[in-house]
Amino acid sequence: KKRNDTHLSHLASVGQIAAGIAHEVKNPLTAVKGFLQLLKERNDSKYIEIAESELENAIDILQSLLHVSKPDLEDEPYVSIDLTVELESLTQLFQDQMYRVSIHKNLQHPGSYILGRKNQLKKVFFNLLKNAFEAIPGEGAIHIEHMSTEDEVIVSIQDNGVGIPQEKLGMLGTPFFTTKANGTGMGLTFVFSVIYQHNGTIEVQSAENAGTKFTITFPKETKSIKLKEVVYLELEATTD
Ligand code: ADP
Ligand code: MG
Repeated sequence: KKRNDTHLSHLASVGQIAAGIAHEVKNPLTAVKGFLQLLKERNDSKYIEIAESELENAIDILQSLLHVSKPDLEDEPYVSIDLTVELESLTQLFQDQMYRVSIHKNLQHPGSYILGRKNQLKKVFFNLLKNAFEAIPGEGAIHIEHMSTEDEVIVSIQDNGVGIPQEKLGMLGTPFFTTKANGTGMGLTFVFSVIYQHNGTIEVQSAENAGTKFTITFPKETKSIKLKEVVYLELEATTD
């Protein structure tokens, strides 16, 4: 839980973020401007598509930043979610599109509900799977496991990709940290932010040239409700 605090203060480092935004959003916008100019000159609709995807990129970056700085502004409700169901459909989507990596699932604990924002959690697992794919240079495997204990729901995503050097582990989740030519470095920033917002934790184990495993833990729905009751009672007690 301490990890959360250090990461959140990391995320709040304004100067670093401002420089990153300026750089990362300027690039796609400059590209859009260029493609609009080409469109004017050549009237070829392919430039519209490229401009559109560059704009989406810029919006994604701003969306992630907005999420980190003002997560409560988002109005998506918290609902009861069975992550096995979400993980099933997400992995199916990935497997249908990417043949070079085989996905192995062990989603044996249905009925373990958490309280969460469904679309945000989908994006979380989408980002983690995407990173896992991008870490595997040729053929490889991704293992996804869904477990539950009395109090917690635990999901792990393990790849046998390039791994992360020890000295870079601490950079994960920092806005704009990327080692990819076309990376935004906002994926894990968003992932960490959403998980903390759900009172969850995320841990990473990695070995260079062996692979990486992310383990995410959420309180079970029943546990979340109990936590809310405690907070409520404490509030009531202090108003006296
Ligand atoms: P991006 O994917 O745009 O680079 P992310 O925030 O998703 O941004 O990831 C940040 C960096 O963390 C990546 O560039 C990569 O170096 C590292 N990383 C994340 N996930 C993995 C993984 N599964 N295996 C190896 N490296 C990873
Ligand atoms: Mg990514």
